[in-house]
Amino acid sequence: MNVPLLDLKAQYATIREEIQQVTQEIFESQYFILGPHVDELEAQVADYCIAKYSVGVSSGSDALLICLMAADAGSGDTIITTPYTFFATAGSIARVGARPLFVDIEPDTYNISPDKIEQLISSLDAAARSKLKAIIPVHLYGQCAEMAPIMEIAEKYGLLVIEDAAQGIGAEYRGQRAGTFGDFGCFSFFPSKNLGAFGDGGIVTTNSDEWNQKLRILRVHGSQPKYYHHLIGGNFRLDALQAAIVAVKLKYLDGWTRARQKNAAVYRTLFADAGLEQIQLPVEKQSRHIYNQFIIKVPEKRDALRQHLQDAGIGIEVYYPVPLHLQQCFAYLAHAKGDFPFSEEAAQHTLALPIYPELTAEQQAYVVEKIKAFYA
Ligand SMILES: *Cc1c(COP(=O)(O)O)cnc(C)c1O
Repeated sequence: MNVPLLDLKAQYATIREEIQQVTQEIFESQYFILGPHVDELEAQVADYCIAKYSVGVSSGSDALLICLMAADAGSGDTIITTPYTFFATAGSIARVGARPLFVDIEPDTYNISPDKIEQLISSLDAAARSKLKAIIPVHLYGQCAEMAPIMEIAEKYGLLVIEDAAQGIGAEYRGQRAGTFGDFGCFSFFPSKNLGAFGDGGIVTTNSDEWNQKLRILRVHGSQPKYYHHLIGGNFRLDALQAAIVAVKLKYLDGWTRARQKNAAVYRTLFADAGLEQIQLPVEKQSRHIYNQFIIKVPEKRDALRQHLQDAGIGIEVYYPVPLHLQQCFAYLAHAKGDFPFSEEAAQHTLALPIYPELTAEQQAYVVEKIKAFYA
């Protein structure tokens, strides 16, 4: 049996006509950059996330970058984030010339630990504390970070909060949607995300009039009015084609999320029936986990298991094999193995299983059967 990690062709088959109609319209109009389709998507995403504004941008990575630029983050600033995330989270900090200050994760949810953020800040002297600019929590795998204590810490020390919600569109913390707690919420429309475009794209949510305006100016090279620049921005524009495609898909997102949640429940039953208690399944702590990934943590032989499943035709992935504090490009931060033990443990022992909406119960049974066979 073949079980891919993600089957975007199956999803496309269900929306082909609608997508073709809207893309055809845009081809005929020859209006490709920003414009009415982007405006419409921005209104819809703001609505969906229950945020005041949203600003379409060129990717999830650029969403992070433009927020850091809006915040005037640069050399001399430090920004707190997690070492266990996709590279862009910390990469964007380094790109504006600021310094990432890593804080370890919680071992059950893989999200940044608020207690450890507080410990870190408490341990800094006054000079180091005055350099702190922001916190970037990541809603990893589709589950919100512990936003209440994170916001409390941010308020206490006067820090901005930029949520990396690239994996978390529609996720909720105590009933509130991801991307609406901090100053900014950053989302990605990379094709493999829960709400994916047919190329690169992203969006930033904010509840602030000023941030909204500044993001819109930075998105077009800091131009306001056209060809007058009092800020240096970049080309962070979203395409009309991507916006229109994402708008079609947004209507189906809640249905797809329910299917992912159902698949997660099916896995839980299958693992319990198989007696695989030694494997840690995702720990749901927040009110709406959207399962961008279904992550298992195994006690031993992760890489051999990965090979075994791949040989059986099952698409699996490791998110992420090397935590960011041990990446070569961050050697200048002078970290060593052992600095963030829970991130290192997760990097060594976790595996993502297929969880996409169109996955069948039969395919899931096959996946769990192969895992059981491996440990037998
Ligand atoms: C995907 C992702 C990004 C980057 O998004 P792109 O659209 O690929 O640039 C940033 N952060 C996290 C946590 C992601 O998963």
